[in-house]
Amino acid sequence: MRKIALLTSGGDAPGMNACIRAIVLTSLRYGLEVYGYRHGYNGLLEQEYLNLRSKNIQNIIQRGGTILNSARCLSFKSDDAPKMAAKNLDALGIEALLVIGGDGSFRGAKHLTEFWSGQVIGIPGTIDNDVNGTDATIGYYTAIETALDSIDKVRDTADAFERIFLIEVMGRHAGFIGLNAAIASAADHILLPEISRSCDHELENLVEHIEAVKKRRGNSSYIVVVTENLWPDGITNLAEMLTEKTQIDCRPVILGYIQRGGSPVSQDRVLATKLGAFAVEMALEGKSGVMVGEINQQLVCNDIQTSWQKNKALDPYLVKIQQDLFDILKRP
Ligand code: ADP
Repeated sequence: MRKIALLTSGGDAPGMNACIRAIVLTSLRYGLEVYGYRHGYNGLLEQEYLNLRSKNIQNIIQRGGTILNSARCLSFKSDDAPKMAAKNLDALGIEALLVIGGDGSFRGAKHLTEFWSGQVIGIPGTIDNDVNGTDATIGYYTAIETALDSIDKVRDTADAFERIFLIEVMGRHAGFIGLNAAIASAADHILLPEISRSCDHELENLVEHIEAVKKRRGNSSYIVVVTENLWPDGITNLAEMLTEKTQIDCRPVILGYIQRGGSPVSQDRVLATKLGAFAVEMALEGKSGVMVGEINQQLVCNDIQTSWQKNKALDPYLVKIQQDLFDILKRP
């Protein structure tokens, strides 16, 4: 193999730059030329790429975002776009393409393998951690830290005013960030897609818990972590209902895009470095249609389809602890 390429696609995640750096350095070590396509799959279609050398990856490990930029490219779902991408990759003489992204980007990667004879390897990079086949995705640890830092700050003001705060965290349709940030911030309650029941049930449960906790602690702050897309009319609506039912001022806080940004924490940098280097080595071994990951501290390489065909479960022990703490808090 002489030429390898990479791109970052979908939602950006802290640590993508660390992964780009590892890919470039490992490729150079094995004597490969390495190309970075810009703006996700759009770069493949527009032939927008750069030849990456050591100087391109200096001083990037600590930076959030991605130096290659990321993007969504809706046309990639049609057949014409991957056919054009295959033609462009061949024209540049690329033999293997590494895709850093989430499960959407991996569907795109799989689609490309139907039209291109080169090797395609996925590297899981998304803050949501909703990718099966790896314990953690690049960016996930930093997103927990960012959410945690914000929740700690909200708690200071919640304590001062003895209010209820609902804090919405990202996670698309998964509760990984929510569960970990809730445990680490000692949130009083959590609403997650994996464990929450009907809205009526959750509302009743929440009101009952707030009243029991108030009896026990007196007037004090009360923090609920809610994952995005969970409450049908949004958390502002839930906050209004709670204020009415409990007669305690309840405020919604939507953390939003701040969770995507920031300098990656060490765990993300280390994971990104390992997975980037390993992906290049897997490419040199001839692997294709696979995603690299780390499970129980072992590097693994599985069929890329398992990343989205099987749902990744939350740590059941963490879920149990959160539920036990919820019950203990309301005891007299
Ligand atoms: P993520 O990779 O973070 O899950 P998205 O779901 O937005 O992000 O997907 C990123 C990109 O991957 C899309 O803009 C599109 O280019 C490509 N993609 C997603 N789903 C498919 C699909 N079913 N077929 C082909 N390409 C896809």
